Amino acid sequence: MSKDERFVKQISPKSGDISKWYGEIIRRAELADYAPMKGMMVIRPYGFSIWEKARDLLDRRIKESGHVNAYFPLFIPESFLQKETEHLEGFSPEVAWVTVGGQEELEERLAVRPTSEAIIGNMYSKWIKSWRDLPLLINQWANIVRWEKVTRPFLRTTEFLWQEGHTAHETYAEAQEETLKCLAMYKEFVETELSIPVLSGIKSQREKFAGALATYAVEGLMSDGKALQMGTSHNLGQHFSKVFNIRFEDRSQKIQYVWQTSWGMSTRIIGALIMSHGDDSGLKLPPNVAPIQVVIVPITLGDWRKSVLPVAQRMERSLREKGMRVTLDVREEFTPGWKFSDWEMRGVPLRVEIGPRDIKNDQAVVVRRDTGTKEAFPLDALEEKLPEILKDIQKGMFDAALAFQKENTHEVEDYQEFKSIMESRRGFIKTFWCGDSACEDKIKEETMATIRVLLMKEDKPKGSGKCILCAKAAGEVAYFAKAY
Ligand SMILES: [Zn+2]
Repeated sequence: MSKDERFVKQISPKSGDISKWYGEIIRRAELADYAPMKGMMVIRPYGFSIWEKARDLLDRRIKESGHVNAYFPLFIPESFLQKETEHLEGFSPEVAWVTVGGQEELEERLAVRPTSEAIIGNMYSKWIKSWRDLPLLINQWANIVRWEKVTRPFLRTTEFLWQEGHTAHETYAEAQEETLKCLAMYKEFVETELSIPVLSGIKSQREKFAGALATYAVEGLMSDGKALQMGTSHNLGQHFSKVFNIRFEDRSQKIQYVWQTSWGMSTRIIGALIMSHGDDSGLKLPPNVAPIQVVIVPITLGDWRKSVLPVAQRMERSLREKGMRVTLDVREEFTPGWKFSDWEMRGVPLRVEIGPRDIKNDQAVVVRRDTGTKEAFPLDALEEKLPEILKDIQKGMFDAALAFQKENTHEVEDYQEFKSIMESRRGFIKTFWCGDSACEDKIKEETMATIRVLLMKEDKPKGSGKCILCAKAAGEVAYFAKAY
């Protein structure tokens, strides 16, 4: 390959400055671009197509578990947000306000939704009257605005896309069951479709959602050893039903407040895909969310238009009929070598190379993006073989990420060791914690590590240990990490 042909590959190595690498992948793979407004991004067609695939796969799960989609307004009156103090205090530093409409100063400021508990709570108080109206299981796909100080495409942006589920139930037990069911749905979705293993557990009081009884989360480990929260599920208890007056007549004709949950997952998962799977050649996409699963690159030699092209076109058609997302790259202005790098950069899971010599041998060469393995297959075997390989890639990428997560999860009992790991290799540290937020704060101050999740009761080992910081008896098992 000549120097020009390798142009696409010239990105900063992942092992160097990972932020630089991350930014270059986003630009070169055309996932997103910086908008003229600070902290905002434009999701470009290729990046949006990944989001669409992920969104559809999650939406299917949301519906299959009995939820329905609806849409609520973008603006929320200030008085609604003020009703729940903890919620308001939690979000107010990040809220964008509308104060003028057209030429007129508004009598009441409108918040651009930072999340929708308040507006949905207001509507639920109108819709819910009786136990017969419960459970109410609604999800919305929407955009959210949070005025962030430090931003990075997909991982943290002022505006982002997400889904937020909002449910109401007759009892605490039902709300708790829903909270955990949605947490499990997120874990299964992320692990199956995005090939990213996650820890799931409960957040400490310090890290929980403003206004919730309890917050649960799924957390992935990115390849620089930092954690990324990928989805949260909250048991809201009766906080919002009491302030928004969401009451119902129960089965014994008594008036009760409903029990609520909310849960969300956002475009952040695209950032997770880049960070956990990408390498020095660019993006690496799990087949289930790849906009293009197979790219056919004809080797443009000799009379390729007559000999190779018709075969490649037939191949494209037949693979498409088998349900694969296929592109045939017939651009003549680029060399095959340049195209190989270009598709590697974009993370396409499989590349099929076919040239005049392959035609003579009635074969094509198949190259895997995840392992780089090259193998020749008879042309008439491709229809059957490629879906198998795609499945194998989906699983192989998960296994590789899981091996990484295991290698980088350290069980530590000594605080000096804790500190030195956080200064060097990072990763998850699994350890005992006394439950006192003073210890949690001090650890954060000294190491920048926060509690990502605490083990849930049923996952905890029997007996107790000593808090990593204060050495008092500790009943909590925590996973600490530096986080995005
Ligand atoms: Zn302690």
